[in-house]
Amino acid sequence: MSEVQLQVLGSGTSQGVPVIGCDCRTCRSSDPFDQRLRSSVVFSTEGKNVLIDTGPDLRQQLLRSELSSIDAVALTHAHQDHTAGLDDLRPLIFKSGRPMPIHCRSEVAKRLREQYAYIFENPEYPGVPKIDILPLQGGIQCIAGLDFTLIHARHGDLPVVGFRLGAISYLTDANHITDAELEKVKGSRYFILNALRDEPHYSHFHLEAALDVGRRSGAEEVLFTHISHHFEPHALLSERLPKGFGLLWDGRSLNA
Ligand SMILES: [Zn+2]
Ligand SMILES: [Zn+2]
Ligand SMILES: [Zn+2]
Repeated sequence: MSEVQLQVLGSGTSQGVPVIGCDCRTCRSSDPFDQRLRSSVVFSTEGKNVLIDTGPDLRQQLLRSELSSIDAVALTHAHQDHTAGLDDLRPLIFKSGRPMPIHCRSEVAKRLREQYAYIFENPEYPGVPKIDILPLQGGIQCIAGLDFTLIHARHGDLPVVGFRLGAISYLTDANHITDAELEKVKGSRYFILNALRDEPHYSHFHLEAALDVGRRSGAEEVLFTHISHHFEPHALLSERLPKGFGLLWDGRSLNA
């Protein structure tokens, strides 16, 4: 398949980095690499852009990215730090003149109908974002005409979906993945995986667990995302990662 580009819109955990009101050294860092908006990426190839997640920073992220169109959205799961910015898709929907396709699992769709009840009201209020809810299931899902391999994992009690397109795999907010699902990552040039902090967490891989999954994945390079301020600043954390591992940062772009 053609070369795939992954643009990183955000690489931070649910509160972002810095955290409001925190004076830890990571939050006080003046290094731009320590400014992390909520986790989100865009896969691009063959002239199509597919946005993964619509977190609360979406407006700022899209303005910064200079992306002028999104062909479809896919949601990993229904937590606020991945869905709270859905309404900010409106300018792109108005511009294209068609509803935005939103791929998500059925329980995520149910949450959207509750969280965004005004979008689904009848009669329709003018100006609401028109969306088409579409499935996200099975091993391969066609999204905006592109065949994504879906990587199914667990995030505490919730199912969470990751994506592989070409040689780039992306999985965030996971704390458990079966060997069979991890097999789908094998041979990736880049595997983006969540690593929250050093201490174990009930629904996220901590660093040691993420290193273990990364080593078993068979990817050439593993890059961590959904990073919290509990880690030391970016420059120091990068230094202590083993060979073959690195960090995402906001604005980073990968091609494979
Ligand atoms: Zn999250
Ligand atoms: Zn802090
Ligand atoms: Zn989550």
